[in-house]
Amino acid sequence: AHPSVAFIGLGNMGGPMAANLVQAGVAVSGFDLSAEAVAIARSKGIETVTDPLEAVATSDVVLTMLPSGQHVLSAYQDSPGLLSAARPGTIFLDCSTINISEAQQAAELAERAGFRAADAPVSGGVVGAEAGSLAFMAGGRPEVFEEIRPLLEIMGGRVVHCGGSGLGQAAKLCNNMILGVSQIAVAEAFVLGERLGLDHQALYDVVSNASGQCWALTTNCPVPGPVPSSPANRDFTPGFAGALMAKDLTLATNALQDQGVDAQLGRLAAAIFSEFAQGPGARQDFSGIIETIRDNSHHP
Ligand code: NAD
Repeated sequence: AHPSVAFIGLGNMGGPMAANLVQAGVAVSGFDLSAEAVAIARSKGIETVTDPLEAVATSDVVLTMLPSGQHVLSAYQDSPGLLSAARPGTIFLDCSTINISEAQQAAELAERAGFRAADAPVSGGVVGAEAGSLAFMAGGRPEVFEEIRPLLEIMGGRVVHCGGSGLGQAAKLCNNMILGVSQIAVAEAFVLGERLGLDHQALYDVVSNASGQCWALTTNCPVPGPVPSSPANRDFTPGFAGALMAKDLTLATNALQDQGVDAQLGRLAAAIFSEFAQGPGARQDFSGIIETIRDNSHHP
């Protein structure tokens, strides 16, 4: 039998992830501060409780899927925090996207209280959460990872153990830094191509078979036409919302700062998407950055 799960945070991601666990026969006890999130979760067959400590006290794994690191740390330790209610042997599994240092701090808090811990952020968005096809990037001790792996495999399609505590977050931030930079580069190239009189399809046909080939081009192409499923074909309906890219790049910037890395493009991408997410870009797919590049381009 699978370990039982206290699922804390039943939002856009947590709700469908918990529903997939229930579908697979896992005993899930859910909690969210928002009455709306609880109502949606209940309609999907998830049992919920009004006191999160009750869920924790009867579960083997405490899975958090919360907005930020501050939410995770306070949920763990505020009095009464989740750590105060857990049974011996409990695994604290955080799947939120948070700072690497916060993930390490959360794991330390759990371990100091006598429990085990892992971080396992995801990529794949709400669509992946609903389909059970998320990619999980996990950090923590190998034996803890092996215990949680079956649960991750229910909610996800690809599960990678990246190393010790915080290294799941590290892998996610590195990936999204590459993605942020490359989506801007592809958008800039298409705007330059437009100015030079290059047809979108011609540019796509060349680059998608040349060394500029990347996901930002071949899956998330920022102009309509060449890749019919890309968000550019539906007015940049996400996809991956600008606000989330801005958040992840801020976390990456914090890690760059902590580590003293001279990553000029990563920092620039973070600044570009932070500005983008201050306007309507917050809710658009992040490939909509091409419109900002067009708008900001001068006419010679
Ligand atoms: P969300 O805002 O939809 O859900 C978060 C939920 O946590 C909310 O329902 C909120 O009420 C609840 N919450 C906050 N504090 C709580 C507490 N102390 N106890 C119980 N519930 C509490 O956010 P989301 O889109 O589900 O994202 C969750 C995490 O997953 C974030 O860290 C996000 O960066 C990450 N993520 C999101 C996506 C995406 O596409 N949405 C993709 C990958 C990763």
